[in-house]
Amino acid sequence: MLTRPELKKKLVDAGVRPSVQRLAIFEYVHRSTAHPTAEVVYESLRDELGSLSLTTVYNTLKLYAELGLVTPIQIDDNFQRFDGNTNIHAHFRCNNCGEIFDLPIKGDYNAWFDGAEGMQVTDAQLYLRGVCEKCLQ
Ligand SMILES: [Zn+2]
Ligand SMILES: [Zn+2]
Repeated sequence: MLTRPELKKKLVDAGVRPSVQRLAIFEYVHRSTAHPTAEVVYESLRDELGSLSLTTVYNTLKLYAELGLVTPIQIDDNFQRFDGNTNIHAHFRCNNCGEIFDLPIKGDYNAWFDGAEGMQVTDAQLYLRGVCEKCLQ
């Protein structure tokens, strides 16, 4: 887990001017494991950052996604979520409780797919749906 100065440096290195709002948005998404939507980020930060608007949150997250600082995920049909973990991993969505779980990928994922052996994978969106362990019990 990166510290606030480390997160700030990541923004600066990516060419982003790290205003208080931009840093807070980045930090929130980075620390959350819930894959929040822009609305959730906004609702969580609006008290702390009085002048924050939902538009600012949207635009900031869109910028971060373009710069590869967050990963946009489209596992739900109706809204976009964001992930601060930009390492390649799969997502499992429980159809019962709606929770989204990170599934780390074991080994070399090129070997999973016929024909991908000689390719360089730079991005992957792998979505699994079903019922989570807790809901199955
Ligand atoms: Zn569940
Ligand atoms: Zn994730």
